[in-house]
Amino acid sequence: MKLANLDGRAVIVSGEGATDVAQASDGRFGPGIQSVYDEWSAFRSFAAGLSTEGAEPFDPDRLGPPADPRQVFAIGLNYRAHAEETGRETSPIPATFTKWPSSLAGPYADVSLQGELIDWEVELVVVIGTRAHHVAAADGWSHVAGVTVGQDISDRRVQKAAGNQFSLAKSFSGYGPMGPWLVTPDELPDPDNLALSCTIDGETMQDGRTSDLIFDVANLVAQLSAVLPLLPGDVIFTGTPNGVGVARTPMRFLQAGELLESTIEGIGTIRNRIVART
Ligand code: ZN
Repeated sequence: MKLANLDGRAVIVSGEGATDVAQASDGRFGPGIQSVYDEWSAFRSFAAGLSTEGAEPFDPDRLGPPADPRQVFAIGLNYRAHAEETGRETSPIPATFTKWPSSLAGPYADVSLQGELIDWEVELVVVIGTRAHHVAAADGWSHVAGVTVGQDISDRRVQKAAGNQFSLAKSFSGYGPMGPWLVTPDELPDPDNLALSCTIDGETMQDGRTSDLIFDVANLVAQLSAVLPLLPGDVIFTGTPNGVGVARTPMRFLQAGELLESTIEGIGTIRNRIVART
């Protein structure tokens, strides 16, 4: 199943069309996407028997982020080649920060540059389906609603300020585009081995596989839920592969007018135009 947020309403995407969840369920689920995650198990049962024959065409530009989370977790240095390019040591505990929820944006939203040293990070993004607290890695995936594509846009100047300000540096408004939709794991042949890449104006910047994650999805659910409960609709940005701008020689950063496209196998592509500060 593909689940999306269209004008603030949860929709099931099939082919070129969308089925409004609240209308299709006579108000049992929806209209907002968080209410679907709040009753994820019941919703999956309902959706399994739902006909999408009445799906209607929609304007993709009206898609918002496919989650409205209370908590956003983001993981740094979670691919070996990326950890090596930053020259940092990996750790037995995942390097964790937050992107405050107001930084999230839709899959085709413009990214307004708020500084000079703005970098890209394509990431597999996990959305939690059922509350997870003290969950073993073997049960990690069972708490996941699905996965989507995200960009962890990063201000490298702020990131390096006052020690490390990862959360602040990655939470400028609109620095967390995600989508186009949530894909449930059953739709993916191997949800732990997905190609992910990003391009700028068609030139490949990052090209990796989620099988190279140091802490995979199930382990992240285990490690994070050992500390605090993961709530329905919560989001985990799982980290980025190598190829970010700050690690290049010479360094490269996003420029107004460029088109950043980020793709994950089996999910889709998000497209974000980089625009001057507004
Ligand atoms: Zn990141």
